[in-house]
Amino acid sequence: MNHMTHELCVIGCSACAPTTLGPASGYLVRVEQTTLLVDCGPGVIGRLASSGDLADVDAVLVTHEHLDHCGDLMTLAFRRAFPQRLEPIPLYGPAALARVIEGFDQVFGIPTLPELRTPLNDQLPFTPIDLGAGLSIGDIRVETLGAAHPVPTLSLRFPDLDLVYTSDTGLTEELVEFTAGTSTLLAEATYVNEEGRDFTAHGHMGGAEAGELAARAGVELLVLTHLSDPDDEQPTCDAARSRFTGSIEFARPGMRLGRAGSRARVMARED
Ligand SMILES: [Zn+2]
Ligand SMILES: [Zn+2]
Repeated sequence: MNHMTHELCVIGCSACAPTTLGPASGYLVRVEQTTLLVDCGPGVIGRLASSGDLADVDAVLVTHEHLDHCGDLMTLAFRRAFPQRLEPIPLYGPAALARVIEGFDQVFGIPTLPELRTPLNDQLPFTPIDLGAGLSIGDIRVETLGAAHPVPTLSLRFPDLDLVYTSDTGLTEELVEFTAGTSTLLAEATYVNEEGRDFTAHGHMGGAEAGELAARAGVELLVLTHLSDPDDEQPTCDAARSRFTGSIEFARPGMRLGRAGSRARVMARED
């Protein structure tokens, strides 16, 4: 399959669980020869398997242990273990993810089949990432920030794509600094900004906070993702627009984000 070599492709963008818009969180980051799956929520592996893109995945990075970001890890491990046993690929994430990996293997491992006894441990050997650390995964450089969320969570910056993905987080000064100077911001907007509601303590943003982050960080393109309900797009867009005057889009499975010349833009979308 022929792909652009510097892009982020949306696989799933729903909060909590799949919706009419498709899977929960999942994004393919492609730089040069490396394809990294970022987050692996419910529905992500089904979509990647049916499109044929699953075979491209060289490594997986999970931002945090919530189900909508890691629920399909075991599905991926099973797919890679049976009927053909594929070469293991690395899994990265906060150290706390180890608990999920051990739990999945304990509950779903099949003791009578050696290749499925501990599928996650065998097929996706885990390397913990310290919050705030930088790393390279093949051709892809990754910078991280500890997010404001109830469990250890990584916000991610991909310098090769000039893009920040907030994952799940409240709006903080650190996140503004981390995002400053980036062209494209893929930001969560989980809740509608109803009068008087503050999601910061709960570790999420609404459209208003995502718009404020985009404005203060000076980004060109704001792509809103992780909405609780696809029907909330209009009020979420209105809330973001009240704080940010640049381009606003909503993430969709099949959408590809990259750069054309010096401009951040949506390179392709699936209608
Ligand atoms: Zn989430
Ligand atoms: Zn979360």
